Amino acid sequence: MFVLTGCLDDPPDPKQIFGFRDATDSDLSAEVEEAIDVANAALELDGRFVLRPMWRPGRPQQALQQVPVYLLRRPNAAIDAGTATPDMLRAFRAELARTVSLSGFGNCAETDPCAAAMYAGTQMGRAATEVYNGSTAMDAAAAEINCRCVMLIEDNLRQFKLIFGPSDQYGQAFAPLSGYVAWLALHEAGHLNRTFRLVPGAPWAELYRRTQSGLAERQQEEMRADAYAASLLGRACFAQVPQRLHAIAAQACYGLTMQAAQLWLYEAFDKTDGGLRRHYLNDGRTHPNVLMRLLAANVVMMDGRGKSAELLTKFLEKREVVAQRLPKSPNL
Ligand SMILES: [Zn+2]
Repeated sequence: MFVLTGCLDDPPDPKQIFGFRDATDSDLSAEVEEAIDVANAALELDGRFVLRPMWRPGRPQQALQQVPVYLLRRPNAAIDAGTATPDMLRAFRAELARTVSLSGFGNCAETDPCAAAMYAGTQMGRAATEVYNGSTAMDAAAAEINCRCVMLIEDNLRQFKLIFGPSDQYGQAFAPLSGYVAWLALHEAGHLNRTFRLVPGAPWAELYRRTQSGLAERQQEEMRADAYAASLLGRACFAQVPQRLHAIAAQACYGLTMQAAQLWLYEAFDKTDGGLRRHYLNDGRTHPNVLMRLLAANVVMMDGRGKSAELLTKFLEKREVVAQRLPKSPNL
């Protein structure tokens, strides 16, 4: 039996602190509710937490620790804000369409200095930076206060859908919003589970240890929360669990992997020193490098199977090359 802590009995209401408004009338609320069901199914495997959407009536389950979930809107956000393709994505796609690799760069590796001139004369670096900033704003929003809750900000969710959602070319979402929200919710539950420690499987223990190199304490805590989320998702998706869990968690596992792939694609076109730093090194935020987080979570989720360990290994090798080439990097 788990006892509610004092904080969770009476969590600070982010609406009052930041002047947010409820967004439970949002057209995204169905996807958010689906995500909460997915996350709760995965949390069942741990038997410790349950996510509680604050807009849904019903008595909380006594035996489980409650994690409040808020769906919120910024004070000045129009209800239909963000439904048009934002300028940043339009600019990115326009640049992508006219960008060609200049001849003479066939032997230039991404981490070589010559790569900076590969797309010279285009605005690809700027466009990629804007998309990156848009795609990683969500974590910052969720971490604004230590509310021991999950805060979902409607306009950030829209931004996620625009960047990772259905594309003009392929029609289907690279990473479904519900999978992202499920991941975010499980991550927050990971922060609350203070006793959780990842025990990496033997073949990938050393690989995972390398991801922790140079991280600040706060950043290690972020990866600990990631590991909790990924280990539960991995069990729900791939281990021997009831069939019902496989079906509903698969989209969250798939979404996490595709988010990494899509972020890599957006970032791959910025070969400038700034782009390399952002792509491979810590960027000075409270959270570690986002692509490393996603690849490390993928290894935990897959228990090192498939291509997961190879992808993270390649990333870390390039990260070391970039760190040596750009020694004045403020963070690694
Ligand atoms: Zn966190």
